[in-house]
Amino acid sequence: MFLQMEDINKTYQSGETTFQALKTVDLSMEQGQIGVILGPSGSGKSTLLNIIGGIDLADSGSIRVAGWKLNDLKEKQLTQYRRDAVGFIFQFYNLVPNLTARENVELTTTISKHPLDIDEILEAVGMKEFEHRFPTELSGGQQQRISIARALVKNPKLLLCDEPTGALDYTTSKEILRLLIDVNKKYNTTILIITHNTAIAEMGHRVLKMRSGKIIEDLVNDTLVPPERIEW
Ligand code: ADP
Repeated sequence: MFLQMEDINKTYQSGETTFQALKTVDLSMEQGQIGVILGPSGSGKSTLLNIIGGIDLADSGSIRVAGWKLNDLKEKQLTQYRRDAVGFIFQFYNLVPNLTARENVELTTTISKHPLDIDEILEAVGMKEFEHRFPTELSGGQQQRISIARALVKNPKLLLCDEPTGALDYTTSKEILRLLIDVNKKYNTTILIITHNTAIAEMGHRVLKMRSGKIIEDLVNDTLVPPERIEW
């Protein structure tokens, strides 16, 4: 199994109060699957993604991703895991403003062990012709394409997307979702997407619904609906 989580618990302390953000969560995914995570605000979606991405540590339970046993990792190895195995995409693109689109992608290759060819990736995300522009000279959708390129150039086995279309209009959202599907097909990247948009669920192999720190539904889609055919 590519991803296996068992009995994952996570509690946050804030002052006198504790809050259990994840309650005995189990999840397993095969390599190459696209999982869509749905659920109301505060249900634990980002916490789940952060633990899978090695950004945050679970309090208890076991988690394995791509052959890495995250429980056992020291800080240094966890950094290595994040660098080698995981690409992150966020709602806001977090590009470095004083670097061009290409340089933003290039920056990642300097910390990565087996980077892919920058030109290939810029082509794949449809941004080769805009490579010399600065982030302020790009639309939101174009900036998101560059942030996807930046994540992909590391050739990660896992792509974690937290509301990747949250700041984009309808048409651009569909284009970005199409790009994620293409990436999944081309590189066999396992992808997890957090979204508020329930319509997007139809394009994932798996639909994980969360509520109050638990996965309350785990559905399998046998046929995927392409983003072009999804309306919302
Ligand atoms: P979602 O992504 O579904 O909106 P989150 O995983 O971000 O939910 O948060 C789940 C709960 O955990 C929320 O109530 C949030 O306030 C709390 N939480 C998340 N991160 C922290 C943190 N670093 N410190 C304290 N509480 C947190």
